Amino acid sequence: MAQRSDARYLTALQPVAGRGLGVVAEADIQRGTRILAESPLLSTRHSTLCEPQAVIEQFEGLDRSSQALYLELYSYEESPFKLAYEQLMAKSWHELLPVHQKAYLIWTANAFGDSNAVYLHASRFNHSCIPNVEVHWNPALEKQTCHAIRDIKAGEELTITYIPLYLARIERQARLHHWGFQCACAACEDTELGKATEAKRMQLIKYADELSNGLRDGSETPWTKSLVRAAKLAKLQVAEGLLGGRSLRPR
Ligand SMILES: [Zn+2]
Repeated sequence: MAQRSDARYLTALQPVAGRGLGVVAEADIQRGTRILAESPLLSTRHSTLCEPQAVIEQFEGLDRSSQALYLELYSYEESPFKLAYEQLMAKSWHELLPVHQKAYLIWTANAFGDSNAVYLHASRFNHSCIPNVEVHWNPALEKQTCHAIRDIKAGEELTITYIPLYLARIERQARLHHWGFQCACAACEDTELGKATEAKRMQLIKYADELSNGLRDGSETPWTKSLVRAAKLAKLQVAEGLLGGRSLRPR
């Protein structure tokens, strides 16, 4: 029997309350499971054209069925990229064909990662400030891979982060405006638990800043002091469920 390259069969695209469609676990998923290994559908990584032209050229290069699937992805109609397009191209947004407007808005809402690409599956993950999935470009496979970074229960939504996570709630919300939504995850909800989670996030930022500043300016000697700081940081990361590494880098 052919070996499966990922475990996407453990997930399904479903409506999620208040969040449109989301990727939901259909069975328990163990930490470390590779949920996706996926090639880009549309990537501007190697294009020499300016971004909007590259997106439109790539879109036109897709076959009809791929175009139809691409056009089902989320787009944000009030996107600030409409204005950015006009400034970059010195052209009115309305001169673009409606299908190209849609293709470009989908790209601005869904492209991510080192490959600067849109994926049919990986671009379906919603955001959380406490994600349970982490994405990495795998250069050996030339695919985007998505791994569970903690055990995920059947029925739980799979989420990634769209932004760096060492940010205060107000900064996270400002960055997420790009996608046109207000995050209401457990770290952002306006409850006592949400406030306590935010207080821990601020503590994490403080620890990370102290650690990186101490290492950078050489003031953290002896090195045991830095190790103690790193251990405190790691303990709090685990307690808060922030187990990925990629988006947690100190600023
Ligand atoms: Zn959040």
